[in-house]
Amino acid sequence: MIDRETALSFAESSDLDSLMAQASAIRDSAYPGTVSYSRKVFIPLTQLCRDVCHYCTFAHAPRNLQQAYLSPEQVLDVARAGQAGRLQGGAVHPRR
Ligand code: SF4
Repeated sequence: MIDRETALSFAESSDLDSLMAQASAIRDSAYPGTVSYSRKVFIPLTQLCRDVCHYCTFAHAPRNLQQAYLSPEQVLDVARAGQAGRLQGGAVHPRR
């Protein structure tokens, strides 16, 4: 655990290598030797959203999508890829 002052100092740093090293040290101090992962598979049935969060890189306007929803076969492709352990860092939308 780090204190507030230390956490805020990280936000002001532009030295990525140093930040990564410090983050690793903090993680390792709390969970030494632990590697975790999620067996869950995210299947993005659609990239439509009625909200407009300006930081969002997931949702798209209908005019910018080739199709509004994944087809049943595309859904199964993502699920099968997840079952086979071929997804890393979350599901990738098949149209990208
Ligand atoms: S983050 Fe993106 S997907 Fe989530 S509610 Fe906001 S616009 Fe919608």
